Amino acid sequence: MFKLSKKLNALPPYLFLEIDKAKRKARAEGRDIIDLGVGDPDQPTPAYIIEALHQASLDPANHRYALDQGMPVLRRAISDWYKERFKVALDPDREVLPLIGSKEGIAHFPLAFLNEGDYSLVPDPCYPPYKGGTIFAGGKPYLMDLRESNGFLPDLEKIPLAVRKKAKLIFINYPNNPTGAVADKDFYRKVVEFAKKNKLIVVSDLAYSEMSYDGYRPPSFLEVEGARDVAIEFHSLSKTYNMTGWRVGWACGNADLVAALAKVKSNIDSGIFSALQLAGVAALTGPDAHIKNMCRLYQERRDTLLAGLRSLGWQLNPLKATFYVWIKIPDKKYDSIRFASLLLEKADMVVTPGVGFGKYGEGYIRMALTVPKERIVEALGRLKNIF
Ligand SMILES: *Cc1c(COP(=O)(O)O)cnc(C)c1O
Repeated sequence: MFKLSKKLNALPPYLFLEIDKAKRKARAEGRDIIDLGVGDPDQPTPAYIIEALHQASLDPANHRYALDQGMPVLRRAISDWYKERFKVALDPDREVLPLIGSKEGIAHFPLAFLNEGDYSLVPDPCYPPYKGGTIFAGGKPYLMDLRESNGFLPDLEKIPLAVRKKAKLIFINYPNNPTGAVADKDFYRKVVEFAKKNKLIVVSDLAYSEMSYDGYRPPSFLEVEGARDVAIEFHSLSKTYNMTGWRVGWACGNADLVAALAKVKSNIDSGIFSALQLAGVAALTGPDAHIKNMCRLYQERRDTLLAGLRSLGWQLNPLKATFYVWIKIPDKKYDSIRFASLLLEKADMVVTPGVGFGKYGEGYIRMALTVPKERIVEALGRLKNIF
């Protein structure tokens, strides 16, 4: 009876729906499901952050609209954190914008720069809001295929000239969801050069910069010379501090890009609950021990899972960052949806089919390190029984 808008209809289908349904059904049947599907930390938010929220929530001054595009104290904490972590100096007043989680900002950003028919250059497979935000803004995603043979980096040279002319934005995301790939500063330098040559805005998504292993420290795109002329970078407390449900993130980088996003947002939302912003300050200025412990925990799970899967003869790349293991399906007979269904039926395991992140994700599944080690061991035992 109601006719959906063209834009809503143009969004890629939500392919995880069937898996979600099957998962609920299996749980309802009382089966012991191991869920490696969700990219959501299983550990609680550190206590000192919860305490900061509690204290701040008691102050009536924090109960009103927070209309000033992020509290100055939070913008300052973000800029200090960038300075400390990446040696990147950001002006907290002009180059930092707090967000209601970074997804919100990523999805809204294209509204500031795309006109009907303009392209965004979007990696594929990818985090879905790059495509969704582009389509809502009337633009068209041009898919840059991420190939294992190229380290899951886009091949910029391959992008046709006609596409470059109509493109306004290029999205990049390293450490990468869903492939777990990382990028070095040489690649970032090439992106800066490519963006300048083709008059593109670079949207860098750095959600996983703190989740890394074996001493590897992911760089920020803004560390590279010239990046600030062309780039906005999105970051978030979600993964670093186990705060996915809290919704605090930020955009930073080029002041004009940040101001344009602020203008879009001023028409859509009315700020972040001030008590949450103050909890965000507590997170960013708190002890480092939390991040070290988090990385140690995921690293142990990673070692267990990778060793177990390799002992089945599965081919896996080393994983230096993120909590995602991107796995080429060992039996070509199955596409990713059928392979995920097989694991659910035969091993009571939930994994994410690669095609859910885009067509070039076909042939892969993603497992997230978001369950305790004992459950990973249990899952590996079940896999040994069927492969
Ligand atoms: C989890 C994630 C985010 C963070 O989203 P929030 O909205 O800040 O919770 C951003 N980008 C990618 C690629 C992610 O996987």
